[in-house]
Amino acid sequence: MSVYEAVIGLEVHVQLSTRTKMFCSCPNRFGEEPNTLICPVCTGNPGVLPTPNREAVLKTIMAGMMTSCEISRYSKFDRKSYFYPDMPKNYQISQYDLPFCLRGSIKIGGKGFSGAPLGNKTIGITRIHLEEDVAKSLHLSGASGIDFNRAGVPLMEIVSEPDMRSPDEAYAYLSALKEIMQFGGISDCDMEKGQMRCDVNVSIRKCGDTAFGTKIEIKNLNSFRAAHRALIHEIERQTEVLSKNGTLEQETRAWNDDEAFTFLLRKKESAHDYRYFPEPDMMPMVFCEAELESIRKSVPELPAEMRARFVSSLGLTQYDAEVISSDKLLASYFDKASKLVKNPKILANWIISELLRELSERKISVAENTVSPEQLAELVNLVSDAVINAKTAKELILPILFESDAMPSQIVKEKSLSQVSDDSALLAIVEKIVESFPAQVEQFKSGKTAVLQFLVGQAMKESKGKANPQILSKLFKDKLS
Ligand code: ADP
Ligand code: ZN
Ligand code: MG
Repeated sequence: MSVYEAVIGLEVHVQLSTRTKMFCSCPNRFGEEPNTLICPVCTGNPGVLPTPNREAVLKTIMAGMMTSCEISRYSKFDRKSYFYPDMPKNYQISQYDLPFCLRGSIKIGGKGFSGAPLGNKTIGITRIHLEEDVAKSLHLSGASGIDFNRAGVPLMEIVSEPDMRSPDEAYAYLSALKEIMQFGGISDCDMEKGQMRCDVNVSIRKCGDTAFGTKIEIKNLNSFRAAHRALIHEIERQTEVLSKNGTLEQETRAWNDDEAFTFLLRKKESAHDYRYFPEPDMMPMVFCEAELESIRKSVPELPAEMRARFVSSLGLTQYDAEVISSDKLLASYFDKASKLVKNPKILANWIISELLRELSERKISVAENTVSPEQLAELVNLVSDAVINAKTAKELILPILFESDAMPSQIVKEKSLSQVSDDSALLAIVEKIVESFPAQVEQFKSGKTAVLQFLVGQAMKESKGKANPQILSKLFKDKLS
């Protein structure tokens, strides 16, 4: 075991999913032709005035509430001065000393990236502030260009306390954060579109020490996997330096994901001077308790709470709860349907093994699923009530539900798929099968009871799948014993 322990804190940038940009009415959309979603405000023309986006402010406060932050009653925007081609105003509108959200936390648990189980732990959130994203520099062959479509997109920065102690905990924190943002409708957090980006800060110290070691920041991590790998390598590098009695200096490094090493970007500049000052073109924002209360009412259930509820009040296993909550739409689908069935656990089985299988065979997403929660719930009830058997439900009715709005009971009636549970009708079938398979009947009588499966199967076939297999089984046993 290492004598050193890692200390990790993360700074995560999350683009908000809003209709328009932060301070202008340009659409907030990804993937358009460069410089087609721009105006004088988001390209920093002189003399323009910013108008704060209400939806972005509400979503930031919602993010704060979902991470147990204190919401500031008084907040303001500030100018952060710097010079770089991605920001022609020469300052970014951000928040300095009075961010919207302070002192929160999120719970992590479950599994780390390597699959190892993690204990439950609470990670502190230092602050969440709102700012504008900057333009994107594109380096083409022989020339560089700037795409302003991203400039002015609402961007939250979520800063954690240095509470994580391993790359796995950092991975779990990022996963939990992403899930919360997606469940809250705050951001889609699509890393490939740059909607969630993280910088990791890591230091090491001798186990048992209380003071923190020298912190190194690693920038440009564009996947959780990259963050996890970069941390493993950086912790190894720092451990090697310290174990050879070397010293570490505070610096900013970058991660080369192809060759798996971190490299120096810059030594810590002597106290960054961003010359923060209050944005003079916007009034500070003051929230009254009633306003905050009305936002609080619209805060959805946290994914971890939802899973706990699925397990404790609906009887799902932890595994079922995880599969169903892995997608927000699937979770609310299940939630809706569960209110219409007698046994939510059976519904969960149907969703996991049948609905998801059909979706993947049809190569469609949960969002494109055309089977309504009402349809699936009724189908599950028809099976539970033995009106139809599971085979009929899976093979004959479920596929129809993808193409039609008809309710399963209606389909059962139209196609006369009702399960035959009537003893006299089934007895006739049983007698016919007993006559046709004398060898198997002898086997059963001599004690090889496993052959019952075969006989029931033949009887099911004879009934064209409509017989109630439990009743068939009983009738065979009665007749042959
Ligand atoms: P800076 O002034 O360099 O921005 P901050 O104190 O604001 O540093 O912290 C930035 C991030 O670094 C936070 O997420 C914090 O949790 C983390 N951090 C701070 N000190 C350490 C440390 N010694 N080791 C690891 N992470 C740290
Ligand atoms: Zn604009
Ligand atoms: Mg800082």
